[in-house]
Amino acid sequence: MKLYNTLTKRKEEFVPLEEGKVKMYVCGPTVYNLIHIGNARPMIVFDTVRRYFEYKGYEVNFVSNFTDVDDKIIKKAIEEGVSASEISQRYIKECKKDMEAMNVKPATKHPLATEEICGMVGMIGNLIEKGYAYEKNGTVYFRTRSFKEYGKLSHKNLDDLRSGGRALLVTGEDEKEDPLDFVLWKPKKEGEPAWESPWSDGRPGWHIECSVMSKKYLGDQIDIHAGGEDLVFPHHENEIAQSEAANGKEFAKYWMHNAFLNIDNHKMSKSLGNFRTVREIGEQYDLQVLRFFMLSAHYRSPLNFSADLMEASKNGLDRILTAVANLKHLLGVSVKEKMTEEEKTAFAKTEDFVKAYEASMEDDFNTADAIASIFDLVKYANTTATAESSKEYLQGLYDLIVKLSDVLGLIVEKEEEMLAEDIEALIAERQEARKAKDFKRADEIRDELLGKGIILEDTREGVKWKRA
Ligand code: AMP
Ligand code: ZN
Repeated sequence: MKLYNTLTKRKEEFVPLEEGKVKMYVCGPTVYNLIHIGNARPMIVFDTVRRYFEYKGYEVNFVSNFTDVDDKIIKKAIEEGVSASEISQRYIKECKKDMEAMNVKPATKHPLATEEICGMVGMIGNLIEKGYAYEKNGTVYFRTRSFKEYGKLSHKNLDDLRSGGRALLVTGEDEKEDPLDFVLWKPKKEGEPAWESPWSDGRPGWHIECSVMSKKYLGDQIDIHAGGEDLVFPHHENEIAQSEAANGKEFAKYWMHNAFLNIDNHKMSKSLGNFRTVREIGEQYDLQVLRFFMLSAHYRSPLNFSADLMEASKNGLDRILTAVANLKHLLGVSVKEKMTEEEKTAFAKTEDFVKAYEASMEDDFNTADAIASIFDLVKYANTTATAESSKEYLQGLYDLIVKLSDVLGLIVEKEEEMLAEDIEALIAERQEARKAKDFKRADEIRDELLGKGIILEDTREGVKWKRA
């Protein structure tokens, strides 16, 4: 399996650190708002990478953080007059709902920066001890020049950075030994959340969070570290400097970065007012369509979001859904059980589509070509499956399309509608939970039903439900 490594700027054969296992860390969102469709790109892309490794039999330890302490979170908390943790908790919950709707698997672990401060203080202390960091008036800086390989990921030269870096100086940071040095710990300002440390009551810098969470949940060395291409510099470059200086080992073997998602050929930004949340798209389309759209391009190519492309994606996904529904229908009417010799020969030909699919995925996760192979398989199914086919042949085609789609995280089987009696039973359980003041369980049940398209309404006559 080959993947493009930003570190070496080449496609490389994937060789795991430990046989049969993949340790993978993906930088997660800063939670101060509903996630936008740009944030959804790395989620969908790297979830697909994970699913493919799992399909190949690897055990994947997939860690993805939530950055739950940050200037933007604090700003939003002040605007709303609530605590920063209320903001981050709210948007973590919303983000998880969006992830589920996009069929992004929960990570093996989703660490929160605020729950890992102790480890950050520990790593910063270690860096100071080794001479890689220093404290000035309660702020701790990383001594960038002390890490000899600085710039190896972003392929930047320290002296070029230095001339550009002067402009980066911000007030209060002129006490740095060198403009290139970056913050590991900063003292609190009035009203900000803060934690104790040997240097000041304050909070960690953003970069140290990922170095520490990756080390804690995956160890000193990992196979793959991933995120959007905007993170290459400075975030990932700084993570490498911190982790390798502290641990004395190469941090990640492979660095993967997705290209950006633009909107109507413009950069998506709040100031341009062309910002789209996943939630908004979900009101217009099943989010499987968004997932299909994201995977219809190579992850390292810029992708443009437009109404036309979403319609094309909807049609593309529908082609697969229709073929699967048709096979299901034929399975209902077929009377023959076992494959005939002819069918066996016909089914053996599907192996070519699987081979082409795998070859695309193994060429740096070319999901666009992998989708094309699914289409070839769909076409083959549409032309060879009839009411005369055996159940075994139809089921074989059905299972294969579902399996290959599932690796891309595309759900192509229509879920059976939930039976009224099952809905009533869950509503009754929710009422019991409410009586027992177990509001967490009550909310879970409401969300579970919502996920299945069942909307609850509390009325004077009791709880009523309807299908969305
Ligand atoms: P942030 O919350 O800004 O830290 O971003 C979370 C993740 O989303 C990071 O991996 C970013 O690189 C990625 N990201 C943000 N905007 C876009 C975009 N427009 N296209 C693709 N990825 C993005
Ligand atoms: Zn990170």
